[in-house]
Amino acid sequence: MNQRVVIAGAGHAAGQLVASLRQHKFEGQIVLVGDEPYLPYQRPPLSKKFLAGEMDAERLYVKPASFYEEAGVELHLDSTITAIDRENKRLHLADDDIAYDKLVLALGSRVRQLPVEGTNLKGVHYLRSIADVEGIRGNMEPGRRLVVIGAGYIGLEVAAVAQQAGLDVTVIEMADRVMSRVVSPEISDFYQIEHTNQGVRLRLSTGVTALNGKKRVKSVTTTDGDDLRADLVVIGVGIQPNTELATDAGLAVDNGIVVDNHCITSDPDIFAVGDCTSHPNAIYGRQMRLESVHNAVEQAKTAAANICGGDVSYSQVPWFWSDQYDLKLQIAGLSEGHDDVVIRGNPAKRTFSCLYLAEGRLIAVDAINAPRDFVQSKQLIADHAEIDASKLADTEIALKDMIA
Ligand code: FAD
Repeated sequence: MNQRVVIAGAGHAAGQLVASLRQHKFEGQIVLVGDEPYLPYQRPPLSKKFLAGEMDAERLYVKPASFYEEAGVELHLDSTITAIDRENKRLHLADDDIAYDKLVLALGSRVRQLPVEGTNLKGVHYLRSIADVEGIRGNMEPGRRLVVIGAGYIGLEVAAVAQQAGLDVTVIEMADRVMSRVVSPEISDFYQIEHTNQGVRLRLSTGVTALNGKKRVKSVTTTDGDDLRADLVVIGVGIQPNTELATDAGLAVDNGIVVDNHCITSDPDIFAVGDCTSHPNAIYGRQMRLESVHNAVEQAKTAAANICGGDVSYSQVPWFWSDQYDLKLQIAGLSEGHDDVVIRGNPAKRTFSCLYLAEGRLIAVDAINAPRDFVQSKQLIADHAEIDASKLADTEIALKDMIA
């Protein structure tokens, strides 16, 4: 197959796509275009080991530079794509344009901006890229005051790393509990206690009205009128998918670039993968947009197989993880629509799971330091297995043995 595949965006999904195309013995040309100056890299360590200085930049890359060279990939890094010309099958860059036979949109997402004054002051950072971490790390001296805005998983991971590095950490969150978008109140409570015990100050049900300072940030004004002194501010208030190029090109977009279960957009010559997509999930029977490495990797594999003439459908139980202190949170499935919650294990021992059921079937799990529950739950969710809920809390019985 001697086609020219152009990949728009050079993030995690793009790196996997190149690897998978080569695994499928794709013989055509691969062109990779991305606006960051780096080869595709993994973002999860940016708020974990890389931020803590425990991981070298080289280990972030999905593949080393030699891989792209050997695979004959034409690289356009530091290059912003400005438009897609579907009629002539060309991708426009600021100072170039590139023809494609198949185009893959792997455009990811970008941080949501905090709509208050002062976010452009020195010492105020968002966290999405290697460059962002370099900016934050330069300011992470012990004793400095860090205010984290947003208690989602990224904000809390930053808080954990900074607290352990000896900073004085305050987290401000508008909702009345941490990670409210992704976990149950039981898990939020557990993490609130953990962070508080570690010395992090949590300000829940609190918004931010301004970041103050002349050149550098000096303080953060909260909705309850407090002025919290700050040497460093990290904002983590969510992301939004990069869909504008697709919208302008007339592709279907609805909370993400709409794809079918083959990762094909409303144009049969254009695929889309990763954070930027809205895709069908057969296990849950609905359209969804996910922000996770697993989704980026699996969609990239699906698209690569289909570009190479396969007929592969994407069907996966979504999963995700977060590392805070010595706690590994692993989430499988989506808990939306559950009608029962069972706690399995002992939160006081810092190893337990929160299982979500709907009509007697397991639909999601939040596992804390409980990898076996996480792995076995994934299978039960995928199988739509009916569970004997009365046994779930009994840690003597393995989850895999609970099918009713
Ligand atoms: P991205 O990796 O965002 O790549 C998209 C690329 O396209 C970017 O480089 C972007 O700059 C580029 N691009 C966009 N528009 C253009 C344009 N017009 N022209 C050229 N290039 C363009 N997920 C987990 O599962 N577990 C975790 O623990 C976890 N931790 C995370 C921690 C942090 C700090 C962050 C930021 C993310 C984390 N994630 C985690 C999410 C995960 O990293 C993303 O889901 C994943 O990177 C998505 O891959 P992607 O290729 O779709 O998008």
